[in-house]
Amino acid sequence: MAASRIVIENCAIATVDANDTEYASGYIVVADNKIESVGAGKAPEGLENVVRRIDATGHLVTPGLVNTHHHFYQWITRGLATDHNLFNWLVALYPTWARIDEPMARAAAQGSLAMMARGGVTTAMDHHYVFPQGSGDLSGAIIGAARDMGVRFTLARGSMDRSEKDGGLPPDFAVETLDGALAATAETVKKHHDASFDAMTQVAVAPCSPFSVSTELLKQGAELARSLGVRMHTHGSETVEEEKFCHELFGMGPTDYFESTGWLGEDVWMAHCVHMNDSDIAAFARTKTGVAHCPSSNARLAAGIARVPDMLKAGVPVGLGVDGTASNESGELHTELRNALLINRLNAEHREAALNARQALRLGTFGGAQVLGRASQIGSLEAGKLADFVLWKMDTLAHSSIADPVTALVFGAAAPVSASFVNGKQIVENNRLLTVDEDAIARDTRAEAQRLARIAAGA
Ligand SMILES: [Zn+2]
Repeated sequence: MAASRIVIENCAIATVDANDTEYASGYIVVADNKIESVGAGKAPEGLENVVRRIDATGHLVTPGLVNTHHHFYQWITRGLATDHNLFNWLVALYPTWARIDEPMARAAAQGSLAMMARGGVTTAMDHHYVFPQGSGDLSGAIIGAARDMGVRFTLARGSMDRSEKDGGLPPDFAVETLDGALAATAETVKKHHDASFDAMTQVAVAPCSPFSVSTELLKQGAELARSLGVRMHTHGSETVEEEKFCHELFGMGPTDYFESTGWLGEDVWMAHCVHMNDSDIAAFARTKTGVAHCPSSNARLAAGIARVPDMLKAGVPVGLGVDGTASNESGELHTELRNALLINRLNAEHREAALNARQALRLGTFGGAQVLGRASQIGSLEAGKLADFVLWKMDTLAHSSIADPVTALVFGAAAPVSASFVNGKQIVENNRLLTVDEDAIARDTRAEAQRLARIAAGA
């Protein structure tokens, strides 16, 4: 059967390919779910089976944004413990989080996904690590929400088995057993992970953090992931308190601890990596371990500033993350391009040379694809890659007087999304989702947030 083609033309294009190729006015031809061609000027004449032609005058087209770290369930616990550092914030929220159930997880996933997708995210991930006993099929609910919305998705199946009685941070009732966590993770991978080129759903193995997971769960989790051929994700080097915790319990810093448990490698990506010394960064570069940089969350929890320019210089793959919305209430990724650039310039070592607009856009697109292990499939606009891209409207009051569209996108206000495509299908039009009812999601998430608050209060 002949491919159905969509032609987008008369737009500025930032391809984010290896040479940062850009076109002041160019075209993209989509054939089924892949990009067939990208170039300057008008689309080639004589294309067959063109089902749609979009005049994108006034727009910048970029690869879809890729989010590399999130906790969807936190959508229904936003705005709490707003003046806390990480450990105090976790201790304040664990008892509430431990009461979530399947309808709450579904609604929260819909809220988190919708907020990102309407702002240009085409690939999302959820690091979910709270599985209360008898709470239902949380992984299935989350994956179903992403599938319904049409967003490409990685579920990082998290786990916690080190509670207060073992020197960990979570309360005893909020954790799984070692064997239970490993078995459930293996089952989730077998049931949902798709290894194909155009996969919409992938699963990673993702014990939560050094202070909520046993050494054995890290070690056996790594073995499990490698035996199943899936990626590995966790939190690392987020705060000075975590560093102190690792030295006290394990006699070494977080990066050395991760290395000793099999957690450095090109199949691993780690959230935050704020407190890294030169040898930690060198270890990440040597092993090609990826980083999910979460600038807003790091600022919200007063965690510090990750050394992103040094990581990039050393060759560490770096993507961007919203992080859970209990520590980044906006839940948007496009604003993280700007925040990554601004926050890294506050690092006294780097100042104005820290990051530029093109590097920030690369972090949010190709960098994210790299850390999710999908750089050959998504993250740049190149012939043969999957058709995941965004039409940013740059001719309104917010941006029209800025000559360079990439500068306008990164330094300016959040740009309107005229259209967003995932796997060749349009999911957003004029900042509204086409696949789901946003107003219904707003109502559901409010109701589930209120229900959770009531249950947590013992009402
Ligand atoms: Zn996180």
